[in-house]
Amino acid sequence: MPLVELRNVSKIYRLGEEEIRALDDVTLDIGEGEFISIIGPSGSGKSTLMHILGCLDSPTQGTIRLDGVMIEKASPRQLAAMRNRKIGFVFQFFNLLPKLNVVQNVELPMIYSGISGKERRQRAMAALEAVDLANRAKHRPSQLSGGQQQRAAIARALVNRPRIIFADEPTGNLDSHTGDAILSLFRKLSQEGRTIVLVTHDPEIAAVTPRRIELRDGRIAAKVDLTLTGLDRRAASAGTAVVAQP
Ligand code: ADP
Ligand code: MG
Repeated sequence: MPLVELRNVSKIYRLGEEEIRALDDVTLDIGEGEFISIIGPSGSGKSTLMHILGCLDSPTQGTIRLDGVMIEKASPRQLAAMRNRKIGFVFQFFNLLPKLNVVQNVELPMIYSGISGKERRQRAMAALEAVDLANRAKHRPSQLSGGQQQRAAIARALVNRPRIIFADEPTGNLDSHTGDAILSLFRKLSQEGRTIVLVTHDPEIAAVTPRRIELRDGRIAAKVDLTLTGLDRRAASAGTAVVAQP
């Protein structure tokens, strides 16, 4: 069973007389462990799609199932719990709280899920280790570079051990060198088995993921899937040479 199943999803915004079809009949499955990018020009519906995939917003039409749960049947309380425990978000502008230090920012999602103070600190520090930022734990966000702030935001997204991580233009506010380092970090997390959806307008960034979904005017315009088949994956882990399926 896919981790996320989107069926015939449309999202229509109404502004007075005008109707904007931000998503138009999108059907999409995301499997456990996939590293996938959603690409398309500005206004093509990428953020809308990510918000629906991440249960931050609901579709006008169509259905979404996350980890087996039909989202439209879930109560607001169940949805909030689902977002907190199953989903991690990374945004272009980091969204760190300026008055908290780095480790306190990373602990935040665990406060909402009721984990004890001691375990919170341990897990937050482990997440900071994973993004190579443990040595900045007591700094305020304003005392960090953009790349370091994004690492802290990624640690915060990881700390509840979510089933899936969504990153919306995560390198959009970084210089290209720093952006490359953040992409390498996502690649490393993917190799560790995490499920990651990367939203970007930049084809060079999308090129790092084996699977790409291209949006145009709210519709899926193209799909590229270089994911190895199950058989090839087993061969790869056994150390045998493999050729990616086109
Ligand atoms: P992208 O992330 O690819 O730039 P968006 O998903 O943000 O695209 O937007 C898709 C379309 O929906 C755009 O035409 C945008 O103007 C419109 N849109 C997005 N959010 C809203 C909103 N809250 N109200 C009205 N229109 C919106
Ligand atoms: Mg966007």
